[in-house]
Amino acid sequence: MNAATTAVAARPDATLEQAWAVLETVPDPEIPVVSLRELGILRAVRRGADGAVEVVITPTYSGCPAMSQIAEDIERALAVAGIVPHRVATVLAPAWTTDWITAEAREKLRRYGIAPPLGHCAGQPAPAEAAIRFVPRAGAAGATPACPQCGSVHTERLAQFGSTACKALYRCLDCREPFDYFKPY
Ligand SMILES: [Zn+2]
Repeated sequence: MNAATTAVAARPDATLEQAWAVLETVPDPEIPVVSLRELGILRAVRRGADGAVEVVITPTYSGCPAMSQIAEDIERALAVAGIVPHRVATVLAPAWTTDWITAEAREKLRRYGIAPPLGHCAGQPAPAEAAIRFVPRAGAAGATPACPQCGSVHTERLAQFGSTACKALYRCLDCREPFDYFKPY
């Protein structure tokens, strides 16, 4: 409950707090070890003008096929918990970046066998408002992700796309294990 309630601490709305707690249990459909909140997809839970519980999400990669699945998962979880009426609103700005993935989630990704993102994707100019907030980490450009199995940085990219478009396929040159790398965006 602690993490789930921080964002609504100033609001004594029990239903919204319950909604946060319910949503805390909704995993990413592609990476079930991390929740939507930990990935930074879940932006807000609030009351709409009509009193309905409104869940605000920001898509990750544009056209990511998981987004409709995510909205369905959220609606199902709220319905099961008896939180009605509700709706899911998608907000595009500020744009999601992999910087929104929590430190906790990065560690979970690593344990799950997915190398967490390093810095920013050079090919993706940050939105103007995000440029102030997100500074690429020094040394990230050209760096290769560390192997989530053995920690070696001697890794090579095998394919631009891994198990999903959001990831690239890498192989460790030391332990020889292939792994997915969550591409910075
Ligand atoms: Zn390795």
